[in-house]
This record gives sequence, structure tokens and C-alpha cells, in this order.
Amino acid sequence: MINYNTIMTQEELFKILVSHCKEYGFIFPSSEIYDGLGAVYDYGQLGSELKNNIKRYWWEAMTRLHENIVGIDSAIFMHPRIWEASGHVGAFNDPLIDNKDSKKRYRADVLIEDYIGKLEEKIEKDVEKGKKKFADAFNEEQFRATNPNVLRNQKKIDEVKKRMADALNANDLAELRQIIIDCEIACPISGTKNWTEVRQFNLMFSTQMGSVTEGANVIYLRPETAQGIFVNYLNVQKTGRMKIPFGIAQIGKAFRNEIVARQFIFRMREFEQMEMQFFIKPGTELDWFAKWKENRMAWHTALGMGDENYRFHDHDKLAHYANAATDIEFRFPFGFKELEGIHSRTDFDLGNHQKFSGKKIQYFDPELGENYVPYVVETSIGVDRMVLAVLSHSYKEEQLENGESRVVLSIPAPLAPVKVAVLPLIKKDGLPELAREIMDELKYDFNCQYDEKDSIGKRYRRQDAIGTPFCVTIDHDSLNDRCVTIRHRDSMQQERVKIEDLHGIIAKEVNLSNILKKLK
Ligand code: ATP
Repeated sequence: MINYNTIMTQEELFKILVSHCKEYGFIFPSSEIYDGLGAVYDYGQLGSELKNNIKRYWWEAMTRLHENIVGIDSAIFMHPRIWEASGHVGAFNDPLIDNKDSKKRYRADVLIEDYIGKLEEKIEKDVEKGKKKFADAFNEEQFRATNPNVLRNQKKIDEVKKRMADALNANDLAELRQIIIDCEIACPISGTKNWTEVRQFNLMFSTQMGSVTEGANVIYLRPETAQGIFVNYLNVQKTGRMKIPFGIAQIGKAFRNEIVARQFIFRMREFEQMEMQFFIKPGTELDWFAKWKENRMAWHTALGMGDENYRFHDHDKLAHYANAATDIEFRFPFGFKELEGIHSRTDFDLGNHQKFSGKKIQYFDPELGENYVPYVVETSIGVDRMVLAVLSHSYKEEQLENGESRVVLSIPAPLAPVKVAVLPLIKKDGLPELAREIMDELKYDFNCQYDEKDSIGKRYRRQDAIGTPFCVTIDHDSLNDRCVTIRHRDSMQQERVKIEDLHGIIAKEVNLSNILKKLK
């Protein structure tokens, strides 16, 4: 069982999830029969349903619930000058470092962040110990402010954070290496502290467009979808008659030549993003930044995966384009990690595209009677990281009262790949025919699976393991009384209901509108 009380290593979690995802058709290694391709994955029959449901939840929350947000779908290939204007050619780098013994490559900043994470875990463990020791008399605030162990670790965290932020901001690679040495960070594989120098590495993939004789141009696979939105700002604003404030949303593939490729779908080289750029009047950005922080957190918590599993992490080091930035972190079983970024990007992008393209990219504000380059607040979430959050949170191994155990994926019902399994108790006596009739009733609204093979217990287990919220069993009585047994995935409760009531019972739990209505 993925137990949140004991923080698992990434390796432990990924072992369990990778094999479950593969066995049940959620996620496969890319090009598997050729031994796979580093940090690239394919979504199988169930994984793609889950992914589509996540995308639909995001898309509808953005474009249907906001009259002033519209969606687009821009091309992956873009003019190479775009990546100069955006700053990616010059600055989309990660600091990398190699361990000379294991020959493994790491991101220097991630090594330091993991070190900070371990100190944070130590503090939490001390707090837990204090809670147990002092029971009702425990005052957590006071304990954190006075306990010498906690204070020592917190001081270390603050110092290391500050040093890292300063080093990254100053692009001081020697200092980054020195922090790793001073903190005595060892390679998790070799256990040694035998490190190379830190070097910068550009994450963009490039290829050529056009034949060599025509004079081929180097172009890049986009490392984010946002630029496709910026370069369409004028088109959408004019054709959609959009008035500031307004937003443009997009879902699409992005590509990054990530250095560390050992993190399953948390960090991929080809992945998918859901990004929304919100165009606003200069000077209002911090208000909108706060509003979007709240809005995006509500989107996450509406799924019911536990409010305590999310937190904001404000950036100490701001990206080259931002004047405020935060991450929404999710409590993955290997600790809190970034799931989504919210950035106040100022007029950096539109301003630069104006400069580099020579086209005027401005908005005439009828209230002010003047033109300006709009400011932007962006929300950016990785679809695949969201899939990992849902799967890792949902996976449970449960001990049942009868001594058996089951694996269940308690995926939020509106995101579940299959909503209902229709199961005739046996393969004859007219039960399959009635089951087919029920399938025909339900399949236009819900993704249904028909299964008549093996014992009913085995069929329930199969559906639990893929997270199907409802199983409907048809027995001999059903032929006479037109009633069936409906079984709920999480509680395993069974109830006898009329066939004509099935649709309503299922819709009440699985329809996306149920969670959309929770959002303001
Ligand atoms: P990280 O610090 O983890 O590398 P980032 O800060 O570079 O992430 P952003 O550029 O803000 O990430 O991208 C927005 C979102 O896109 C992230 O919050 C994450 O969900 C997703 N994302 C970024 N890189 C990857 C990747 N290599 N694989 C999967 N998802 C990714």
C-alpha cells in the first residue's frame, strides 16, 4: 500500500506504479519492444481515458466557467525567432553535475532541493515525536519555535535556500557546486561525493525544417505551449472581440531534453501541458496573481484528494520573465513536489515579440483611452504530472474482512477511465441479453465495460484495480423484477436497484458537472 505516513523513495513508488500501470493498460514504456526510450512513455487504453478526462476537466473549468477565456490549438513548430524573443535560446538551461564514480548525471539545484526536503522531513519527524510525547499538552507552534533540533534544521534550510537562490540568480555555477560540497551531498547511486564541475545545459530539442538544398533552418520543438498563445494574442483578441481582462487556454505537447530521466511520468522528455495566459492591465498583476492562485487551488481540491495534500511554494528564484511566481505542490508519496506553476510574467513576452517581430502588439483600453502592452498571469500544469498525482494517490492495497486483499484505484469518479462495468452473473439463460440491453442504455453517456468471464468476485477485483466506480450485476431475478445489484467501488456496498434508476445513480457520481459546480 502507498502509505502517506512513511514517505517512500521514488524508486519504491515507481516500481509499484510502473508495474500496475503496465499490467492494466494505463502506461507503457515507449518503444518497449526495442527496450524503451529514456523518459518517454505511451498511454494505453485506460491511461488515455484518464488523461482525456483530466484534460476535459481543465478545459471546461477554464473555457466554460469563464466567459472571458477561450481556447486555441497552435502548432508545435514555430518560427525559430520566437525562442530568441522568449529567452529560451539564451536562458532555458539547467545546471548539471556528474558523479565521477557512478557516472550518473544530476541537476545541481534538484540535488540541493532534495537535501532541503530531507531536513524538512527531519523537522516533521521531530514534531510527530513531540506530539506523541506531550499528547494533549502539545503546543505545535511553541515546539517549532523552541525545540533545538527543529531550530537547528530550520536554520540550515534557510541558509541553504538563500545560498542556492543567490547562486542561481547570479548564474554562479562554482557556488552551486560549493553548496553541494558543503552540505556533503552524496550520489544516491555510488554514495560518493566525487563531483564534476557544474555546467549549463540547454533543454530545447532542435531539428531542421526544409531540405538542405533549400537551405534548411534549425527549428525547435516547443519547450512550453505558452508561446503559441502569445504569438496568437492579436488574432484572438481581434477575431474574438476580447476585452481585457481575458484569457487564452491551450492544451498541447511540449518537449524538454531533461537531464534526469529516472522519474517515470513526473519528468518526461515529451509531455503535455495545460496552460492559460490571462491578459491584464499593467499594475493589476499582483491582484490577478492572487486570484489565480486561489482559483487553481480550488480546481485541485474540488477533486476530493485531500486539501492537506496541496501547498503553495513561492519561488525564491524568479524565472527570467516573472515578477511573482508560485508552485502548487502535491504530496506525492516521495514528498511534496511541483504539480503546477502560476507566474506573473509582466509584459516580458508580448513586449519581446513586439520587438523581435516588429509588429505592434498592444491593446487599446477604451476606459483609459490609451494603448498598452498587456501584462500576463499564467497558470501552467503538466497533464502527466496530474495523472501521476491521481494514480499515486488512488492506489491502495486493502485488507478485507474475509481475510482476502484487494488492489483498488480510488480515482475521483468523474476522472475514472471506465465508469461502469456491466456483468451478467452467468453466460446463459438470457442474462447476457439483458446485460447488453443495459449497456445500450448507458453507453451513450458513460464509458462502460462488458465482462462475462470468470467468477463475479474476480470480475469485481479487475474493476477495482482499474478504478471503475460502479459494477452492475445481472442475475436470474433481474429477468423478472427488472432490478440489478449495483456495487460501489470504495465502500464495496451493494444495493438492489431498478434498471430504470441506474442512469441517475451513476450520473450523480461520475458526471464532470458535479465537480465543476464546486468551483466558483
Ligand atoms: P521543474 O522545476 O519540475 O523542472 P518547471 O518549473 O521547469 O518544472 P514549468 O516550466 O513551470 O516547470 O512547467 C509547468 C508545468 O509543466 C510543471 O508544473 C509540470 O507540471 C509540467 N512539466 C514541466 N516539465 C515537465 C516534464 N519534463 N515532464 C512532465 N511534466 C513537466
